[in-house]
Amino acid sequence: MKLDERGLLIVLSGPSGVGKGTVREALFKMPGHDLVYSISMTTRQPRDGEVNGREYLFISRDEFQERIRQNKFLEYAEFVNNYYGTPFDTIEQQLSEGKEVVLEIEVNGALQVREKMKEAIFIFIAPPTMEDLYHRLRSRGTESPEIVEARCEKARREIELAYLYDYIVVNDTVENAADKVIAIIRAEHAKTERTIATYRKMFPKENNERK
Ligand code: 5GP
Repeated sequence: MKLDERGLLIVLSGPSGVGKGTVREALFKMPGHDLVYSISMTTRQPRDGEVNGREYLFISRDEFQERIRQNKFLEYAEFVNNYYGTPFDTIEQQLSEGKEVVLEIEVNGALQVREKMKEAIFIFIAPPTMEDLYHRLRSRGTESPEIVEARCEKARREIELAYLYDYIVVNDTVENAADKVIAIIRAEHAKTERTIATYRKMFPKENNERK
């Protein structure tokens, strides 16, 4: 029996290059959960191997701005000259079906979700060290040196905001990090505030007598 009927919104965030995507992939491979991934929209060009509708929905700047005007994003941010955003309708639908929706987004977007969806769970994926992070960003080899340096600078500023999150998970190994995220989700499900209403519905009489 599912006690808490509305699904959880899980926001995985953290600096570019920290390995959020890899942690998320490992998470989805783990057994015993019902997670769905929210596919973001972006104006950046697909990288080699990326497929429209799988990693992202790749749209033009004009289309993106039109969607902003129509209030169609739960959150969006401009990140190193491109827009990224979370489509609102899909998420609302999935949450109301009781699905666990995972967002993998950068820090500014996460802060907007914090404002709009108080019940969401905010997990900051952190690098073991800054050197480790810079090394990963520089060795990715998919972007120009200027873009890589912009991402390093942005990462440093993003890490300063980790204190705003509910949890910080260090990505020392992908398996460890994914394990911790699953443990957090399980614990969040067991929180009294998420389950008590259902128990009260099960025992309405006793509950009324207590009042
Ligand atoms: P990349 O270009 O490396 O795929 O993503 C750049 C950054 O944008 C990453 O930190 C990624 O998590 C973030 N991102 C991806 N989708 C979204 C989104 O929908 N909203 C926001 N705010 N950030 C996103």
